[in-house]
Amino acid sequence: MRHRIAVIGGGLAGLTFARVLHRHGHPVTVLERDPSPDARPPGGTLDLHEKLGQLALDKAGLLARFQALSRPEGQAMRILATDGTVLRDWQSRPDESANPEIDRGQLRDLLLGPLDVQWGRGATEVVPGTRDGVLVRFADGRQETFDLVIGADGAWSRVRPALSPATPHYTGVTLIETSLDDVDTRHPGLARLIGDGSMAVYGVNRALVAQRNSGGHVKVYAQFRAPLDWHTDLDRHMGLNRRAGLDLADAEAVRSSLLALFDGWAAPVLDLLRHGTAFVHRPLYALPVSHTWAHVPGVTLLGDAAHLMPPLGVGANLAMLEGAELAESVAAAPGPGDLDEVVHAFEEQMWARAGGWAKITTAGLERLVSPDPAEALALFDEVQPS
Ligand SMILES: Cc1cc2nc3c(=O)[nH]c(=O)nc-3n(C[C@H](O)[C@H](O)[C@H](O)COP(=O)(O)OP(=O)(O)OC[C@H]3O[C@@H](n4cnc5c(N)ncnc54)[C@H](O)[C@@H]3O)c2cc1C
Repeated sequence: MRHRIAVIGGGLAGLTFARVLHRHGHPVTVLERDPSPDARPPGGTLDLHEKLGQLALDKAGLLARFQALSRPEGQAMRILATDGTVLRDWQSRPDESANPEIDRGQLRDLLLGPLDVQWGRGATEVVPGTRDGVLVRFADGRQETFDLVIGADGAWSRVRPALSPATPHYTGVTLIETSLDDVDTRHPGLARLIGDGSMAVYGVNRALVAQRNSGGHVKVYAQFRAPLDWHTDLDRHMGLNRRAGLDLADAEAVRSSLLALFDGWAAPVLDLLRHGTAFVHRPLYALPVSHTWAHVPGVTLLGDAAHLMPPLGVGANLAMLEGAELAESVAAAPGPGDLDEVVHAFEEQMWARAGGWAKITTAGLERLVSPDPAEALALFDEVQPS
């Protein structure tokens, strides 16, 4: 195989694609916008499903190393009422391997291994159908042509416009992320409240979720239904008797607004916000459910670039499996003339599977952050193993 392949984006989709192709003896370069691996915090914990993310790691030859790093006990899930009453408390069995958790940074480092990643190579535009192949323009002024360009560049993909006019829309739910360190020693009461895995509290159009990562690190997600510009007028948009808009860069102002938004919830639950450090504003966006495009030779998309959906525990899993499957297909293509056919067949398979999950996660978000908190509990009762 001597195809010129560009992987745009070194997230989980792009790295898994490159790692599986590497395993099949075809090294490929990943072009990543971030200037270095540690340019920004790697994010929270991910549970990798046996038939999705773990299958991808198996295809990459990394399953045993994942098992050594992952936290099966992180599958524990506790749900509290807003007054602090424990409504559900699911523990994971020690031999339970369906969805063990791993820190996103650990997973990324596992995949990076021997890969050739060019950092600081943000793509700005992709032009298919030039005489020499698919042209990619980069922010550093360079441009190169390839036989196949894999757009694994996430929600705000710069590759996607070459295939589809779709852009992500706001789901109506905003999430504010904060975190706590050394929770077992610094906040033992909160450590007990959260348990070994995740703890969630669902109220009217609001939720607070805390998830344990490795090393006593906890990520807390405050979620609420609100217009996109909710922070510009807290009185009008959120019914919080505060005249001025909220400066999202002012951590103390964000903390105080969140405490007002979740007013009346049990004190230990609100302590998650009182002790949180930085606050990161993340309005949730999604692409249209069942997003597809007319196939364009030489360009395709993976992961969030193809099917951004609400974060209900499946996006990273799909991104990884797609990366692994496309790499296997490309490696197995009998000759250069077959590359396009295998990519097109892969797209059909990806669209069908991702479309199904997009429906599930879109409906799931409606129930998790909803006017009726009983809906969230009912959803967990449907999906948690008894
Ligand atoms: C709060 C939250 C919690 C989540 N929890 C889970 C979970 O528990 N389980 C799960 O399965 N999923 C989860 N997800 C979803 C998951 O994070 C995504 O679906 C997953 O990261 C998608 O991987 P990706 O590689 O497609 O995109 P990304 O992870 O976004 O990676 C894209 C990469 O491309 C790079 N890039 C962007 N633009 C360019 C460019 N122009 N040129 C070059 N490089 C570029 C970016 O820097 C990045 O490295 C969660 C999401 C959120 C927001």
